[in-house]
Formats: sequence, C-alpha cells, structure tokens
Amino acid sequence: MSEGAAKKEDKPRKFQAIRGTRDLLPPETALWNRVEQTAHEVFATFGFGEIRLPIVEEVELFARAVGQETDIVNKEMCTFPNPMRFSEFYRRLRESVSKGTNEMGTLTDLLPESEMISLRPEATAGVCRAYVEHNMQQLPQPVKLYTMGPMFRWERPQKGRYRQFYQIDAEVLGGTDAPAIDAEVIEMVMTFFERLGLEGVQLDINCIGDKNCRPKYVELLRAELSKVKDKLGPDSQRRIETNPLRVLDSKLESEQKLIERMPHIADHLCEECAENYRGVKKELELRGVKYGENWRLVRGLDYYMRTTFEITAKGLGSQNAVCGGGRYDGLVELLGGLPTKGIGFAIGEDRLILSLLETGHSPLATRHSPLLYIAWMGEKAYTTAIRAAKNLRNAGFRVELPPVEQKFGKALGQADKLGARFALILGDNEVSSGEWTLKTLADGKQEKLGESDLVEHLKKQL
Ligand code: AMP
Repeated sequence: MSEGAAKKEDKPRKFQAIRGTRDLLPPETALWNRVEQTAHEVFATFGFGEIRLPIVEEVELFARAVGQETDIVNKEMCTFPNPMRFSEFYRRLRESVSKGTNEMGTLTDLLPESEMISLRPEATAGVCRAYVEHNMQQLPQPVKLYTMGPMFRWERPQKGRYRQFYQIDAEVLGGTDAPAIDAEVIEMVMTFFERLGLEGVQLDINCIGDKNCRPKYVELLRAELSKVKDKLGPDSQRRIETNPLRVLDSKLESEQKLIERMPHIADHLCEECAENYRGVKKELELRGVKYGENWRLVRGLDYYMRTTFEITAKGLGSQNAVCGGGRYDGLVELLGGLPTKGIGFAIGEDRLILSLLETGHSPLATRHSPLLYIAWMGEKAYTTAIRAAKNLRNAGFRVELPPVEQKFGKALGQADKLGARFALILGDNEVSSGEWTLKTLADGKQEKLGESDLVEHLKKQL
C-alpha cells in the first residue's frame, strides 16, 4: 500500500450503510425474531425441514433458474469474479484495454461464466440446486423445505423495496401435482400470517395453464395486444414481442382499460389444467381458506405452470405484495436433475414486518428492556451482584448489571431510563443480613427477600 493511501485511511471518516441496504435495530429486531420463530414453528407442523443455503452461487444457476431475460438477472443481480480469480480477471481486463478494443463486452468475456458468482436474488434456484446436489430424489417424496435470509436485487430503492431484503421461502419438490399439495402450501402461509396477526390479508389465485395450452393463449394475447400496440407504453410494447404475459402485470394507469379487455387464460385452459384448477379451489374451500381469483396474476418464465398466487396485506401502499408463489415444472431438470414437480412461495419479510408495524404491532411489546436492574454498592455487594445476575439469567430473566459502582440514586434513575420493572438493591446491609431489597419501580414499593426466594418471587410477578 502506498503512503498516500495509508494517510487517507488514517483520517477519521463516518460511514453509512450502502444505499438500498439498512441496519435492523432493536427493538424492531425483536419483531423479526418473533416472525422467524413463528415460521419455524408453523412450517414444522406442516412437515417442512429447514435448509440453509449459501448467499453466493454461480451466476449461471440464476441465469437458468430465474431466466436470462428477466430484469432480476439482466439488471439487478450483483455479479462479480470469484475473488480467487481477481488477478486473472484484471490481467485479462488490462489486456483487452491495451489492445484498444472499444467494445468491452460482458464480464463473462473476461472470465468463464463458471468463475463468475452472484449474490442470490431469490431462494428457489438454490433450493433446487441443493435438491439435485444432495440426491434428494432418493428421499421419500415430496421433499418439503424452507429457508430464510437476505436476498439481493440492485433495483431503485423505495419504501418496501430494498437492495438487500429478506425472504422466507418454502418449496415442495417431487411427488405429484395433486391439487391438495398446492392448497396445503397456501394453507400453510395463511396459517402463518394468521398466527402473526397480519391484517387485511388477501389471497389471489390463478391458473396459468401448462406447456400444452399456454403457448396458444400467449399467441392469442400477443395478437390482441398488437391490435392496440400504439396505445401501450414502451415497456408493454416491447413485451408484446418478448413476453406478452408480463403485459398483464402492468400497473400503468393508461393501460388498464385496454388490458381489462384482453382474453382471459381461464377460457383457454386445456381440460387437465381446468380440472386441476377446479381441484385447487375445492381443496382451498375444504380447508376454509378464502381466496379471490385474479386472471392477471402471471409468471414470466416458461417453467411456471398452473397454480400461481399472491398475498397482499394492509399498510404497504403500492408495494403491498407480501408473498408470491406458484407451481413449476422442469426447473429441477434444467439444473441437471430428474423430472421433478415443484411448488413454492417467497414471503417478503421486510414488507411483512412493515405491515405488522403499520397496523400497530409494536415491537415494544417484545422489547428487550431489563426486567431487573441490580443497583449495587461496595466490593462485597459486587460479588453478590454477579452471583445474583448469573442465577437470575439462568432462570431466564433479563438482568442489567452495571459494570461500575454508582450511587443508589443514580442507579435507580438509570433503571428507570432503561424501562426496568424492578431494581434489586444490594449494599453492605443487604449482604451482611442476607435480606435483599427488591423495589418495584412503577410504585416505589420495597420488599425484603432472601436470596433463595428471589427467583420464585419474580416468577409469580410475570
Ligand atoms: P418474488 O421473489 O419477486 O416473487 O418476490 C416475493 C416477495 O419478496 C414479494 O412479494 C415481496 O414481498 C418481496 N420482495 C421482492 N423484491 C423485494 C425488494 N427489492 N425489497 C423488499 N421486498 C421484496
């Protein structure tokens, strides 16, 4: 490192989290933990096991699974050379610059695609990769997996849209495509949301056909959209060619009336898909799951088929989708596995938490303020205080033990500030008599207690 660089680093400088990323802080993190704990509990009751995946994978995995032509892969994914190959990458970069080629080409012209890695933009690709890699086809089918953690998409940040965000994802792989599987997966998310007390939950479902019937519908849609092409915006105009189904996703106000007049896929399903869709609706009704039908709910990729669903919740403005999911076929094959049926969903955890907060689920209810603050004075009292803190914490109580001696008045003020319910007062008198003083901070009531009674006494107060 040059001297100049060292100097620059020595100069104090404040840092900020990179745009689109953020710190999750207490007390809000208590709510995050409650959400995640509830997911673990609810999903386990449906027979799902947790899988933890790497955050980085080969770029090609996502290019295949999410689709080379999607915005996620094309514009939003964080891709970089494998750090072990940085020097080779820069050598080739320098070489290409010194040759004077104006055309830089893509990153993968400089290193083979297998040497390029990406931060995961979603979880399904990793789950399917792991299913194949660990020969999970040999396990009793279907295999039910869930995972949670950060995802990365470098899109324009706004409320409810981040570059690092969190998803809770579940997938059912293998087995059949019986409508009951789709319904049970949906029932599981709805149970999870209900358990959390999420408000204004609305489930929309649709059936997008399969490779037998969808291509004909797509052609029909393309033809109908072409007739009104001039009246559509540039994005939709482009999509008429590349992916007409995605036009149905459009939120552009000026396009809504035209799109409403387009043919509905429900009228163009083959008999197997229509039968399957009727089955899914019946199975949802059997489970008491309320749903609406939204014929414009589509997925852009070829391997998605039949059931798609989306769940929205209150308090989120325009970014109100908290969960998206659907059935797919052919993805595991695309990743080198045997033909395998799949269905899954991804919950946007940031938005789920935002909705809970907006509808009054205060994280303060689960706040980590101490139950008890130990106000100690004197060396002997300190030893006793350490022992008391250890025993109380072992019993599961939140205890604050101040690291330096303070006058009792100051200590009690501090206990109040931290929101503690009780202060345990330990001074010379208490230590020598073995009679400790427990003060309830709300009303100032003081009680004398022996060391051995304290835990039981506090348990009764909760
Ligand atoms: P997707 O994987 O695109 O189907 O998204 C599934 C869910 O993840 C959405 O319904 C959102 O709740 C959430 N989500 C997707 N992208 C973002 C983002 N950039 N920031 C926050 N949440 C997101």
